Amino acid sequence: MKDIEMCTCTFCGRPQKAAKKLIASPNGDAFICDDCVRICADIIKEETVKVKAFKDLVLPSPKDIKKSLDAFVIGQEQAKKVLSVAVYNHYKRINYNEHNKINAKKTKEDKNTLELEKSNVLMIGPTGSGKTLLVKTLAKILDVPFACADATTLTEAGYVGEDVENVLLKLIQNADYDIEKAQRGIIYIDEIDKIARKSENRSLTRDVGGEGVQQALLKIIESTIASVPPQGGRKHPHQEMIQIDTTNILFICGGAFVGLDDIIYKRLSTSSIGFNANIKNSNEKAKVDFSKDVQPDDLIKFGLIPEFVGRLQIVTGLDNLDENAIKRILVEPKNSIVKQYKQMFKIDGFDLEFEDDVLEYISKRAIELKTGARGIRTIMETKMLELMFDLPDANVYNKIIITRDFIENGKEPILIKKEEEKKAV
Ligand code: ADP
Repeated sequence: MKDIEMCTCTFCGRPQKAAKKLIASPNGDAFICDDCVRICADIIKEETVKVKAFKDLVLPSPKDIKKSLDAFVIGQEQAKKVLSVAVYNHYKRINYNEHNKINAKKTKEDKNTLELEKSNVLMIGPTGSGKTLLVKTLAKILDVPFACADATTLTEAGYVGEDVENVLLKLIQNADYDIEKAQRGIIYIDEIDKIARKSENRSLTRDVGGEGVQQALLKIIESTIASVPPQGGRKHPHQEMIQIDTTNILFICGGAFVGLDDIIYKRLSTSSIGFNANIKNSNEKAKVDFSKDVQPDDLIKFGLIPEFVGRLQIVTGLDNLDENAIKRILVEPKNSIVKQYKQMFKIDGFDLEFEDDVLEYISKRAIELKTGARGIRTIMETKMLELMFDLPDANVYNKIIITRDFIENGKEPILIKKEEEKKAV
């Protein structure tokens, strides 16, 4: 055994006199000072937190994810299937890569591990068909933070508009500033088709709102460590930044892509095989199926830059909602608008009922508005406002039946008195 007075920390080389405590190994060959013990403890703690976080990432199967989506989103079967698998694979990949990293650290062999790369998603579908709802619901099912941004409000850094990093800030805020959590979140970028560049050729003048934004978005969609100003707004020097790694953030982009069907149709009908024959027979442009027929080239022709298209490896389409789908949307989802109104009136002591032809009328009107299921809320809000303003006396009435005449012509709804209800029973 050496004289402890003469010994130094085997880790940092500090002499015994400079350390508060120097602990000897059982055989007396090695020593460790109190500072190095603390550093070691921190390293171990950090690793256990990481391992715990990944264990916590409970993954439902794609089938279960789809089932949960069914409770909120009507129709859009193909998109639900594609997203369920995409999201499942995304989080499976994170688990796999992180466990690999931890194992590699332990064994100090990180050269041969296979790194799985992420696949971001592009959803093509008309406005109000459920794109945002799908992503929001997915984030809820998986209990991961979610942020949504409108591509048209974003600009390349340094120009008037919002910096793309602010999208990351929204995600961090929605994760209550838990960076680990935010780094596994989902970001939805809506109206991505609106930042298509104006012409297929790279422009000589800067395209600040289109190509410039695609370039800026590309940086965060790819794996990067982004610096985000904690208060949002523009970056400026000497500002403290939040660092966030975007490697494991799933980016889902969406847009209506009006005109993309023409591009696909043109390509398919000029190609000599398969589709050409079908088109000649059916002569229907409506046959273009965004889930199956979109090729990267079509998106590039539309105005997305090739690098951006390359980052959106999974493409799926959403259908136009028909009258029947809208009628179902009114009543079937867990938080359907009809269920919400019923609950609101229940709080004031009324049972609210809708006659069946009311739902039919609203669906028809929503189709005319051409804003998909979005139209439902607009129609309902304006019609129900009057009723909510003139709420009948809850001591006298306990049931309100909404008739088509009320919705269509502004006539009185059917009000049922408490005694009448009792008599009827
Ligand atoms: P998009 O993002 O495609 O423009 P949203 O997802 O924002 O459309 O839809 C607007 C609203 O319409 C949603 O909040 C939801 O209430 C309703 N909605 C749209 N599509 C569906 C659907 N397929 N199933 C259930 N509700 C839907």
